[in-house]
Amino acid sequence: MSLDIQAIRAQFPILEQQVHGKPLVYLDNAATTQKPLAVINALDEYYRLDNSNVHRGAHTLADRATQKFEHGRQVVQRFLNAPAPELVLWSRGTTESINMVAQSYGRTFLQKGDVILVSAMEHHANIVPWQMLCEEKGCILKPIPVKPNGELDMAAFDALLDGSVKFVSVVHVSNALGTVNPVAEIIQKAHAVGAKVLVDGAQAVAHFPVDVQALDCDFYVFSAHKVFGPTGLGVLYGKRELLNAMPPYQGGGEMIAKVSFAGTTYNELPYKFEAGTPHIAGVIGLAAGLEYFMSLDRIALAQHEDELLQYAMQKARAIEGITLIGEAPKKAGVMSFLMAGAHPSDVGMLLDQQGIAVRTGHHCAMPIMDQLCIPGTVRASFSIYSTKADVDALIAGLEKVKMFL
Ligand code: PLP
Repeated sequence: MSLDIQAIRAQFPILEQQVHGKPLVYLDNAATTQKPLAVINALDEYYRLDNSNVHRGAHTLADRATQKFEHGRQVVQRFLNAPAPELVLWSRGTTESINMVAQSYGRTFLQKGDVILVSAMEHHANIVPWQMLCEEKGCILKPIPVKPNGELDMAAFDALLDGSVKFVSVVHVSNALGTVNPVAEIIQKAHAVGAKVLVDGAQAVAHFPVDVQALDCDFYVFSAHKVFGPTGLGVLYGKRELLNAMPPYQGGGEMIAKVSFAGTTYNELPYKFEAGTPHIAGVIGLAAGLEYFMSLDRIALAQHEDELLQYAMQKARAIEGITLIGEAPKKAGVMSFLMAGAHPSDVGMLLDQQGIAVRTGHHCAMPIMDQLCIPGTVRASFSIYSTKADVDALIAGLEKVKMFL
């Protein structure tokens, strides 16, 4: 399969617009990716033709909606190489998926004094749910240190690992720095001391193929909107024996087998964890987006994105006053940086005036910003439709910003 980035761009109509009279250069993909026609059309078709509630309906529309909805689960199963569709649970996003595990697995199976490890580069979504659990249960949350270049300190991880560690929750790709963490090694080492492992794949899944069986992770989570799907939908993959042993996260319709005032029994997987009407359109949209994404040459795309990132970093390094933040040897999708004499938010605003969309601030990763003694960064983040021309526009934009200083 050959890679035609212009043909890919043509599938994303939002990219064709002008912002402040300049062609849009969208480099905020770590915050959310744009949506291809496949997703837009699937949502349109669903609401025009199929809209209905799923599972309980006795009519044709309900059947069609249910079939498309459950097809979505199979698509995600294929996307993650999960062993079975019922091990793919829907949530509102990565944040809710992590909260589900902290609340359901954590409250049931973690005890006072148990150690939970997260990395120091986590998004707040993979810190705060564990802090809340620790407050309630008396568990101890410890950060795995990060080296100044943004690489996870694996020697420090080894030193932290002992029999008291019962859970490790770690980000696959850092949204703030772009670091790709050695999750396979982390999982294998954590399992050796009897700890379970959750991998936050929010930033990983759009950049390279993920195989949950090869990784042998206990839980893997991601958000639909960061991989070309709609907002408000997330995925929690879990191993069958763990999901079976875990109590429901929420009570309500759909998650029950039988309800009576004498007592209620719960539904089987995946429905035990899916109380209430789900985000039906979201699932159908995500399925269409992932089918489109999986039809592309993903290895070639990962290579294209890596070349782009290396090119951007090399160009940025050459600009006087720019400091790259996060230069781990393995990175994906994200270039964070600072410009001497300019606050990141001012850089972001001046780039926006030139049609260039980046994100500025702490990127919901305050602990790593504190460790690096910076208030935040400017973050340019790439996706499958990003081009060398986008990088050139960013670099020219930064040169212009410098003239304002
Ligand atoms: N984890 C990582 C690494 C992220 O980048 C994000 C979002 O930026 C999240 C978790 C939270 O994702 P959501 O807001 O979609 O729940």
